[in-house]
Amino acid sequence: MVDILIVGAGPAGLTAAIYARRAAKSVLVLEAKSYGGAIINASEIENYPAAAHISGFDFAQKIYDQAKSLGAEIRFERAVDLIDHGDYKTVLTVKNEYQAKTVILATGSENRKLGLENEDRLLGRGISYCATCDGAFFRKKTVAVVGGGNTALEDALYLSDLCEKVWLIHRREEFRGDESDVIALREKANVEFVLNAQVTALIADERLSAIEVTKKSGEKSLLEVSALFIAVGRIPENQNFAKWIELDPEGYSTASENCRTNVPGIFAAGDNRQKEVRQLVTATADGAVAASEAIRYLRAHP
Ligand code: NAP
Repeated sequence: MVDILIVGAGPAGLTAAIYARRAAKSVLVLEAKSYGGAIINASEIENYPAAAHISGFDFAQKIYDQAKSLGAEIRFERAVDLIDHGDYKTVLTVKNEYQAKTVILATGSENRKLGLENEDRLLGRGISYCATCDGAFFRKKTVAVVGGGNTALEDALYLSDLCEKVWLIHRREEFRGDESDVIALREKANVEFVLNAQVTALIADERLSAIEVTKKSGEKSLLEVSALFIAVGRIPENQNFAKWIELDPEGYSTASENCRTNVPGIFAAGDNRQKEVRQLVTATADGAVAASEAIRYLRAHP
């Protein structure tokens, strides 16, 4: 029986582990993939206080090392279910089951897909959800990015330094992401915006060779590209716990700023929680809040 079981070793989960260990609580972190969460794909982070420039990979490594050095146990197992017994909880993985007095769900989110025919088949053959992971394969080629948030803008900027040409396709006139990135992209000679447009088909044999783009007016065109980088947002990874945890219509936990879910002793932290601003700094802040709330809960339920 651990005091605090944390599902997810991203910035929120590992921060929660740091706070919980500093309060001398026993901590087990379960992670389905690799530690670091989505931030591991960020080529450079410039908006985390006191770290003017750091790569996502280095950030993930540092926060992992910090949690480990404080004594957090981290196991690489996917949590597939959760049972609330009232005064304790069981978390089931594919291999094991663990008992905990409290649980913090810091499961983050996964890439949203466009839902186009062949999108899955072409993954790694011209379709990518990670420009910093795959961009180098398309050096000096023509590529497209779809999306209008910060990820799409940053992907387009990153790719513009590697690729011959970058098409940036967005379904509206205005971008959702930061204006400073939009301005930087407008100054790039090899970046062209396609606004009020959707990617409606993937043209491919073995590999992607072109995309069909349809404007709001209904006008269709084909763009010849070697790759399409899809950056249309993320989907919260709460499905495995949905029978216990109240979710909003988009699948986010309805836990508020205090990170308490509808189930006493279960907390949600980071990108899987309903919130206005999803940033690294708000994810780590959630980790601190969730751990503090779990510690308060443990004090009240010795
Ligand atoms: P996001 O902000 O949710 O943006 C998703 C974009 O994809 C939106 O522009 C949306 O269009 C578009 N979209 C959604 N579904 C679509 C579809 N089916 N077809 C075409 N377009 C579609 O997601 P994100 O860019 O991944 O960012 C997620 C969060 O991380 C945000 O809070 C963001 O600020 C943050 N982030 C921060 C940084 C940073 O601070 N450096 C970097 C990356 C991400 P609409 O605009 O029309 O809805």
